[in-house]
Amino acid sequence: MESDSEFDVIARYFNRPAPPEMLGVGDDCALLPVSHGFQIAVSTDMLVQGEHFFPDVDPAHLGHKALAVNLSDLAAMGARPLACTLALSLPAIDHAWLKAFSDGFHALAKQTHCPLVGGDTTHNPAGVVISVTVMGEVRRTHALRRNAAKVGDDIWVSGVLGAPDIALRLLQGRLPSNPELLAATRQALEQPMPRWRFGQHLVGVARAALDISDGLLQDLNHILTASHCAAQIQFDALPMAPALAGLAPELQQAAMLAGGDVYELCFTAAPVRREQVQAVARQYAVPVSRIGSLVQGEGLRVVGPDGVDMDVLSYGFDHFKHGITL
Ligand code: ADP
Ligand code: MG
Repeated sequence: MESDSEFDVIARYFNRPAPPEMLGVGDDCALLPVSHGFQIAVSTDMLVQGEHFFPDVDPAHLGHKALAVNLSDLAAMGARPLACTLALSLPAIDHAWLKAFSDGFHALAKQTHCPLVGGDTTHNPAGVVISVTVMGEVRRTHALRRNAAKVGDDIWVSGVLGAPDIALRLLQGRLPSNPELLAATRQALEQPMPRWRFGQHLVGVARAALDISDGLLQDLNHILTASHCAAQIQFDALPMAPALAGLAPELQQAAMLAGGDVYELCFTAAPVRREQVQAVARQYAVPVSRIGSLVQGEGLRVVGPDGVDMDVLSYGFDHFKHGITL
């Protein structure tokens, strides 16, 4: 990409005035203030064309999602968004694409008070690569770590499960064409809304948390490993996305237990915190479900609708199985 074009792209699509307390786009570094007694939480997620999104995806949705998946990581730590940076590799300068992409990105940045304060823009003939870094702040020692769960804790999830996986299967042709089902699930895949406010207010209420980017079982397993405990889940307590009603039970189960790209929070909290969890959930209009509890030992049991343990090993522990894992 010749340098004139690169600067033009940055100026037109990415340079926005930073809040007065920050130095944003235009210098060698952005400068951010940090509140006394807080830590910076930093996370980066990349989206690669063909691996994480289809080349023809709506660029406005892609801009939204590139930031959303990163904000979800901040939410999972209980951190408040401060600012973000965007590294973008493009095969060509396509103004219609850049306008829609940047509009989608800035709209979510504005809504979540997470301004774009820097980045890098390069040429890449192989396709679009997007790398976003978010920075947030969280009170020292208050972040929701994966290793903080305790035996006896309740296990909770926000929102509903399963829709993004069904949309992905439809778009990849792994399920027979079904325009109605795609219409009902696609938004969950392409425009997830991170739990950015709810996550912050779980600080002091929840103990451990993470977001379900790789599937409930696989992600919950990270908490179990880090916190040295086991989990028992009631399948019937899992919140199923309404669009999945009517699908074959095996498909519902696979989508809910192993489907990735959910960007809901899975968290643990002591049973004495139940009322508080519900109060925070009500305050931010986030549905929450208590799906099981942590027990002593190792591993993960899912008690099926018939009261018999489900075969969890067939779900969620092989996320390269299907090629594209959005
Ligand atoms: P440098 O050569 O010092 O890294 P660049 O010429 O790459 O600076 O970028 C100029 C300015 O534009 C920097 O402040 C940088 O952070 C910002 N910038 C570059 N690309 C992007 C982008 N995609 N989004 C936001 N800011 C960007
Ligand atoms: Mg640069």
